[in-house]
Amino acid sequence: MTETSKILLIYTGGTIGMVKNYDTGALQAFDFDKLLQHIPELRLLNCQIESFSFQKPIDSSNMNTKHWVKLASIIEKNYTTYDGFVVLHGSDTMSYTASTISFMFENLAKPVIFTGSQLPIGDLRTDAKENLITSVEIASAQKNGKPIVAEVCLYFEYKLYRANRTTKISSEQFEAFSSPNYSQLAESGVHLKFNTNALYQPKTMVPLKVRKKLSQDIVLLKLFPGITKQTVACMLSVKNLKGVVLETYGSGNAPSNDWFVTLLQKAINNGIHIVNVTQCVAGSVLQGRYETSVKLKKIGIISGKDITTESAIAKLMYLLGEGVPNQRFKEIFEGSLRGEMS
Ligand code: ASP
Repeated sequence: MTETSKILLIYTGGTIGMVKNYDTGALQAFDFDKLLQHIPELRLLNCQIESFSFQKPIDSSNMNTKHWVKLASIIEKNYTTYDGFVVLHGSDTMSYTASTISFMFENLAKPVIFTGSQLPIGDLRTDAKENLITSVEIASAQKNGKPIVAEVCLYFEYKLYRANRTTKISSEQFEAFSSPNYSQLAESGVHLKFNTNALYQPKTMVPLKVRKKLSQDIVLLKLFPGITKQTVACMLSVKNLKGVVLETYGSGNAPSNDWFVTLLQKAINNGIHIVNVTQCVAGSVLQGRYETSVKLKKIGIISGKDITTESAIAKLMYLLGEGVPNQRFKEIFEGSLRGEMS
């Protein structure tokens, strides 16, 4: 452990890394080699910052599993050299990427902080500077020679969240993210206050394992009143389908029509894993609470409990990629692996 923390700042793309070219008025990608020139405040932090930029920074809508593996590999390669990592990412799919990275890193013992911004770093009213500066501060925070944060987090607008608990809630407000089912991990005001009880405590001395196999053979099936048999049947018959995130109503309720339950049952018999998550922003699935979820429980649908849709997708990709045996899949999914469910 170095005396001053060494932080690796990884720029993947997104609004945060843009500056206005005052000659043309256009937004253009920021030259990360000149980071300290643009944000001299970073010099005031008690840490050493090095940066790495994706060769072709992307809008986060273009993120895919290949980018996730690339990002995980960059962190893995630099894991022993740096004390913490800050990932700059577009806000649109940040919760998906950060949730997936949390599953990919087993036994993580260092901070990986995702952040971005609603306005470019060169904009007069930008939220980028605060988000970036405080993320670096969090990534370098140590107590008794150990990092205070040892998990994958998302920092935005004065709040630090467990990444796999977050969801994007606004395309306009600076407070763009929320963690509806888990307390925030820190709040930045005059002081940076950590919520120690909510922070993940890593197991010491267990070596890091980076899991890079992600399955894309999944679908997200969101229910709506009036959904037809044809639509459900079509989605469940996608070639090579291995997993489904089923977004249901309220505490995990779905139509009780025979055709609906029969289609799900058939998919399960064919080895497809179906996870029940709620469309509600907050709260948990509780299969069996209402009559409209009794059958789902009976046919072996997995309860996603209070997991977010983003995290359910990430967990499904990860567990399917790892080739978890069919008989153990439900039990493993229903347990918390990285603090993603209560
Ligand atoms: N469209 C942008 C992105 O997600 C928005 C942002 O950066 O916040 O890459």
